[in-house]
Amino acid sequence: MSATPQEPLIVAIDGPSGVGKTTASRLVASALHLPHIDTGAMYRAIALAAMRAGVALDDEPKLDALASAATIDFTPGDRPRVLLDGEDVTNFIRTPEMSMAASHVSAVPAVRRVLVRLQQAMGRRKGGVLEGRDIGTKVFPETPHKFFLTARPEVRAQRRYRELLAKGTATDLQQVLAETIQRDTQDSTRADSPLSFDDSYTVIDTSDRSIEEVVDAIAGHVSGRSGSGSAGLP
Ligand code: C5P
Repeated sequence: MSATPQEPLIVAIDGPSGVGKTTASRLVASALHLPHIDTGAMYRAIALAAMRAGVALDDEPKLDALASAATIDFTPGDRPRVLLDGEDVTNFIRTPEMSMAASHVSAVPAVRRVLVRLQQAMGRRKGGVLEGRDIGTKVFPETPHKFFLTARPEVRAQRRYRELLAKGTATDLQQVLAETIQRDTQDSTRADSPLSFDDSYTVIDTSDRSIEEVVDAIAGHVSGRSGSGSAGLP
């Protein structure tokens, strides 16, 4: 009797900006030996391509053509890089300007259609830990492993602020807080795939938890043991 082929393991990690999704997802992926797929980086890459080509961030036909023609890849390893048409664009896509631009292009349905299809193809190949805003609601709604990370807005803005400072970007905490709130509002109120979660998610507030506790809780939940970090999961 032949064995049933195993479905690839998909872990969905959704939530707003600054909740620690990227660090947590990378470590969970490493713990579970799965690829890490940063879907926010994909929206950022399309925003960068649009800005370079002089395409308006709400011009749906042109953005559709641009997204359909682009190739986006991730290099594996501890320090993953984002490749847009083979070019390493990692450093260009992590600025406050590109965060806002990504939020604009991500509201365009044609862009979402193209990128969701690409994310599904990537996930089906070898499974993965996918982080984003709509992974458990739209990209892989059938996965039983869905996590929604939250944190108080001040904590999220602080984290972003420290990240930007560490990269040498001159910035102001109040401005980072205002942009964090603006981006969350845009992402939560857009018509297509707004940031949201339902009962099928496990919600984790990361405000007062270490990254190790969060990772342990998620990896433990996925592998069927409760995390020793006791992140207060149900
Ligand atoms: O996660 P990150 O901050 O890199 O995402 C940048 C932007 O991309 C978000 O503000 C959001 O507008 C968009 N995004 C999305 N759906 C995803 C991932 C990101 O709309 N799955």
